[in-house]
Amino acid sequence: MGQRYHPNRDIRRRVQEEIARTREMARKDEWVTYIMRDPTERDPLGSADGAIFYVGQTRDFPSRVVRRFSYAEEYARRPRKLTDKRVVQIWRKGSCPRFEVVERVATHLQSLVSETNHANRLIAQGYRLTNQWKEHRGATTMEVTRTDVPPDRIWPFTIADAVADEITVELVCTECEVATGPLDLLALSEAMEPKPKTLADLKRLTCRCGKTGGRYVKLSVP
Ligand SMILES: [Zn+2]
Repeated sequence: MGQRYHPNRDIRRRVQEEIARTREMARKDEWVTYIMRDPTERDPLGSADGAIFYVGQTRDFPSRVVRRFSYAEEYARRPRKLTDKRVVQIWRKGSCPRFEVVERVATHLQSLVSETNHANRLIAQGYRLTNQWKEHRGATTMEVTRTDVPPDRIWPFTIADAVADEITVELVCTECEVATGPLDLLALSEAMEPKPKTLADLKRLTCRCGKTGGRYVKLSVP
């Protein structure tokens, strides 16, 4: 398992303080969009807490904060883990990253939209983020909407989250020309054995003609 925070005692205390502070910010049944700040770097817009270097989203904010600190040392040794490398860098300078909640929304899809729009806005304002998703690279001032969220971020949704966001699937087979409209997701998953946990599990469905997988099961995001 990951090293528990930074070995330095003073930094460990500051990490514990940050965890306690962010625990106060969490409410029940919400998705949180959060930013991380580097107190050792001057903020372009003048915040005393330092420059923003990361935007994230989570359903469980307090656990996410604990996890980000707990695994930073371990992950920072791997390539491409830019956010963890930055956390460790800040510790080495004798400081500790600061978390801030920037938006609270009710559903998973709204949360992904919120995260992308915040990241794009910050990039356009001149912040250099460690986020690496391609949809954050545009630095566009255009707001994305729910239909712009890439499918690879929607397939991992739980069935319950998909229902809450009115996301469903259609069955479309080019082989035998089966094409359904949007399906009743609850009825569909109820009829499956074993029960699907995520939308990706629906890719198990097989057409009468034997075709299977993501090309047969299509996401439908109205
Ligand atoms: Zn077919």
